[in-house]
Amino acid sequence: MTSDEQTKNPTLRLRISSTAEWKVRSGHPWIFSDSIRSQNRTGELGELAVIYDKWDNFLAIGLFDPLSPLRVRVLHTGKPQAIDDAWWRERLNQAIQIREKLFDEHTTGYRSINGENDGWPALVLDRYDKTYVLKLYSPMWLGRLEHIASLIRKSVDPERLVLRLSRNMQEQARGYAKLQDGMVLSGPALDGSLLFRENGLLFEADVLHGQKTGFFLDQRENRVLVGELANGRTVLNAFSYSGGFSVYAARGGAISVTDVDISAHALEAAKRNFHLNREVTNKCRHDTIKADAFDWLKDTGTFGVVVLDPPSLAKREAERAGAIEAYARLARLGVARTEPAGVLVAASCSAHVTTDEFFAVVRHAAAKSGRKFRELRVTGHPSDHPAKFPEAAYLKCIYLQFR
Ligand code: SAH
Repeated sequence: MTSDEQTKNPTLRLRISSTAEWKVRSGHPWIFSDSIRSQNRTGELGELAVIYDKWDNFLAIGLFDPLSPLRVRVLHTGKPQAIDDAWWRERLNQAIQIREKLFDEHTTGYRSINGENDGWPALVLDRYDKTYVLKLYSPMWLGRLEHIASLIRKSVDPERLVLRLSRNMQEQARGYAKLQDGMVLSGPALDGSLLFRENGLLFEADVLHGQKTGFFLDQRENRVLVGELANGRTVLNAFSYSGGFSVYAARGGAISVTDVDISAHALEAAKRNFHLNREVTNKCRHDTIKADAFDWLKDTGTFGVVVLDPPSLAKREAERAGAIEAYARLARLGVARTEPAGVLVAASCSAHVTTDEFFAVVRHAAAKSGRKFRELRVTGHPSDHPAKFPEAAYLKCIYLQFR
């Protein structure tokens, strides 16, 4: 039973602006506070809110957050629907089953639930072998955590279930049943990192403390492509984190791989990941350099493949213009570091910088260099990270081959 079923309050009913109505009808999962026209009572954190259209017909049902400008996150639209235990179970199993078809035993690390794109707003579930990591991005899930965790246990029978909390809700969660980022909800305690497989390669992930849920699972398909480009080349992996691109490059036949990251901790993990796969990486030289990549790239040699995968440079809309400028600077440096006949691989994970804007910046930097190049390809989201509405599409990557 969740708080909704227990509450004695009448159903929370909302009416929204016609623009918001149109957006919800077309599948957008967010309703902002400024589009709410009327509300029958004050709503509580995480309770179900029912949205009615201007003819008083059922429009949608979603989760309510009285303090967030993003006031309702839609769970369901169309016909009226009871959001009960069976409904949640079915929704969970749908997401799980899609992934079972995508991966075999060579890939045991992937995203099982990608937030609203799988019908689970502000909630992510990542699998790392027998451990599942549940990451919440909104406090509206706190009152449902026990229920959701029990559904996950029934559905995938994980050896261990770990809870991760986005920074903005950690304090609130501590007050709420003493929930902490990185706590093991069930299964054996974990001391340090765990191991999983990606396309046959072994990686460690610090699922308790690492960025995101411990690994950048979203770059899997780009790592495969970089592996295919690496044969006989020197590879620069700027913003390497734990060296995911580098291990693929080494397996692909790279002569050398240079990891550059500002975090010594990340570079230590990169060394361990290289060693974990020594059977396929031992012929490749591996250098790790702790530096600010923006500075380091100004004054160094050239490489056959240059990978630029910085962290999000625009966390907020207000940072958009600055981020575009930084991507341009980085792209210029990347072009300069790419040797004749080399390939530049430039990625962005900033949702506030659009795909078109980012690609234009990189193409422009290449054109400005006066060098001849052709576009090998562009990529977006991998299949386990679907993006079904504009704000969800953050990942883009462009491959330029120079002459
Ligand atoms: N390419 C990685 C993910 C990159 S995440 C992968 O596939 O796993 C971004 C990384 O950039 C983080 O490891 C962070 O420590 C690093 N970073 C952030 N700012 C940096 C800077 N100015 N110079 C170098 N590294 C930086």
